[in-house]
Amino acid sequence: MDTILVINAGSSSLKFEVFSTKDGLTKLFRGQMEGIATAPRLRVNGRDGKILADQKHAPADVPDLPAAMQIVGAWLREKDEGRLVAAGHRVVHGGPDYDRPVRITKEILRDLERYVPLAPLHQPNNLAPIHAILDRQPDLPQVACFDTSFHRGQSLVANHYAIPERFFAEGVQRYGFHGLSYEYVAGRLREVAPDIANGRVITAHLGSGASLCALFEGKSIETTMGFTALDGLPMGTRCGQIDPGVLLYLLDQKGMSPKDVQNLLYNQSGLKGLSGVSNDMRALLASDDPRAAFALDHFVYRIAFYAGALAAALGGIDAFVFTAGIGENSPEMRARIAARLEWLGVRLDPEKNINGELLISKPDSSPELYVVPTDEELMIARHTLKLIGG
Ligand code: AMP
Repeated sequence: MDTILVINAGSSSLKFEVFSTKDGLTKLFRGQMEGIATAPRLRVNGRDGKILADQKHAPADVPDLPAAMQIVGAWLREKDEGRLVAAGHRVVHGGPDYDRPVRITKEILRDLERYVPLAPLHQPNNLAPIHAILDRQPDLPQVACFDTSFHRGQSLVANHYAIPERFFAEGVQRYGFHGLSYEYVAGRLREVAPDIANGRVITAHLGSGASLCALFEGKSIETTMGFTALDGLPMGTRCGQIDPGVLLYLLDQKGMSPKDVQNLLYNQSGLKGLSGVSNDMRALLASDDPRAAFALDHFVYRIAFYAGALAAALGGIDAFVFTAGIGENSPEMRARIAARLEWLGVRLDPEKNINGELLISKPDSSPELYVVPTDEELMIARHTLKLIGG
């Protein structure tokens, strides 16, 4: 059996999934090494949820991503589940040039390093496992799938900032992220609701990171994230849209360093910063602290606010789709967001919403409301298989 390894590497965790290429793509198992450098733990689950591995490691043995990659690689070799034919990687930034996934060569890898300044917290982590595999198995085909590619077809009007044009040429553009998720959802919609998929759709990827994407005939025409994954909606710990004047104030008047501001905006803001309670939606929903309630009010308000903006970009909407951790699993948040969209003609069916059905709006609702679970790893596996000629 031939297999494809999909890797999604973050700052402190390395997630992976292994797919069999037989009969299309079948998930065999998924795992993650979390707590890299602090409390490393490798956990792997089979397709049926069965625990295949649960190992704690000493922080000194797993100080960084390459070390995590070595341990994961050793586990995979020992498991010996088929013949690995390719590795597909999630890479957050493809810059202005990469409008589709790409087979990695040493030259391309060097090229992708150019985008580290555009995503300093993510890109180096995404590239580290590619280097590690290249060192150990130089002949294994590797594919990079970018979070930005799906949005590259947006119009110039949409992807410009109103600053002098020379900055655009240097790469200061609105890129947008969560592209693999939106691409997967657009594909699923074509299967389950083809008429809707051909129309005007707003998809809400609501997880630890959160954004909205306006899809017209399955293509991204607008999204709430921009040059970085900080813009748009407030997120678990990221601020979302903020007046750039606030940054000038923090730097000039408060004497904060760029590093301090970066930490504030990426790690201390959003739901965590507003509530002072948690960045985790489940904890906020369970909390009776009024600050948690306020953070949720703000989150819902901003989602509805941006939904209005994206509806304007689309010239109306035919469907609103929920996906990712919060969108897929929280009937309460879906109901609160739907209530704010009633002015658009949205009518939620409370029972279907509680049951988490695919279509959760009433028959007279226009736009319709959907819940479509995302699968970024499967999207990466598909692209990888395609690029290696499968
Ligand atoms: P993701 O980044 O897509 O994994 O989503 C993570 C977010 O989804 C976290 O804020 C979780 O609290 C939230 N989440 C996961 N399950 C639930 C649930 N059952 N109810 C509410 N929020 C959830």
